[in-house]
Amino acid sequence: MSHSLPSILKRLLKQPTAPFHEYHVRAEIEALLTGCPFVKMKRDKFGNLLVTYKNGTSRSKPTWVFGAHMDHPAFVQGDDGWQFLGSSLIPEMDAAIKAGLRKSHGEIATWNFPVKITGTRIEATACDDLIGCAVIVMTLLELARLEVKTTVHATFTRAEEVGWLGAWHLAQNWPFGKDSVFVSIETSRPVNGAVMGGGPMVRVGDRVSVFDSEAVAVLTTTAKEQAIRVQRVLLDAGACEATAVQAAGIRSVGISVPLGNYHNIGAQRQIAPEYVMMDDVKALIDLLKALIATKHDGIGERTIRERVEMRMVEHAAHFKAGTKLFS
Ligand SMILES: [Zn+2]
Repeated sequence: MSHSLPSILKRLLKQPTAPFHEYHVRAEIEALLTGCPFVKMKRDKFGNLLVTYKNGTSRSKPTWVFGAHMDHPAFVQGDDGWQFLGSSLIPEMDAAIKAGLRKSHGEIATWNFPVKITGTRIEATACDDLIGCAVIVMTLLELARLEVKTTVHATFTRAEEVGWLGAWHLAQNWPFGKDSVFVSIETSRPVNGAVMGGGPMVRVGDRVSVFDSEAVAVLTTTAKEQAIRVQRVLLDAGACEATAVQAAGIRSVGISVPLGNYHNIGAQRQIAPEYVMMDDVKALIDLLKALIATKHDGIGERTIRERVEMRMVEHAAHFKAGTKLFS
């Protein structure tokens, strides 16, 4: 189990992928996790990959289910030739195709950018969401290396970019118990004050939903305790799988790595590789490990009820004194 983060990133980011055509990515994740102690994998009927890490009888509390999607907007073969799936339809795509930026891989075609990994930056065609997949794989391998005693789950889903189809199937057939909390692990354009390099973004919501308040509090409290820099923010430029899973009644939240050139659209609206910052990726892995290693009953501090009731007692005399003067 001596996979380094750069090697995992490279192996996943070089896989071509498209909505409904995630077989290369899924096979690579399975290869990376095969033989990993305490890890069991299975595929559901939709083709999502479900992973459970179980060492001993204790479990993370709540039991976390980390989820990333394996697809990225790309071309697939349709009845009339190539059809683009995912939201990136701009005229600049034609120019990019003419310039030879599109490369076919059997039944799919992707933008053809090399994977570039340095100590500070990671650039590839499909950071969204192969970075999320790599973060979860690395976290599981780290848990196994450290022999952490816990139970935690992970999901790698299909067809997110066309409306969370894999996540929807997963949520409708939820196999992880009612007390579990789904954490969408994504890459997203930083908006509303968030910046590249500012740390993982704890999402209070997305364009469609607001997320579980207590789970957001556990994430930010854990980050604070471990001195991991995070950005707590509403990311309403897009919607993530937490919205789909939450709609099925499962408590959900999301964390995103700040993403540059979202969906391969560059600053001049040219087709460009996506990129993320290495420190943001490492911080997210640290945050997931910390989440799993620490137990949180509620938000790890007093409940809102307790806090208000204490204030009520504390200010009882003022309440009485002021109230007397109302006529
Ligand atoms: Zn996307």
